Amino acid sequence: MGKILFWILLGLGIYLLYRASKRRNQRHAEDRRASAPEVEDMVRCEVCQVNLPRSEAILTHGHFYCCEAHRQRGEGSTGSNNHDQ
Ligand SMILES: [Zn+2]
Repeated sequence: MGKILFWILLGLGIYLLYRASKRRNQRHAEDRRASAPEVEDMVRCEVCQVNLPRSEAILTHGHFYCCEAHRQRGEGSTGSNNHDQ
């Protein structure tokens, strides 16, 4: 009799563990989907044409740039202060 009870409890334990892990995996997948909002807004750098999330881009005078160096280059090439040529 004790053996049967042992197997029933073991089966119940495995079942509960399986259910818990399945639920945890589902929640994990939902979290991963929720923590990836970068897909929504993509903008393109005016200098190197690379696509990047809007939150990481630098916006100046209606133009997007991927980094400070490209912002300066973009501003310099379109701006009025051309010292190079
Ligand atoms: Zn760039």
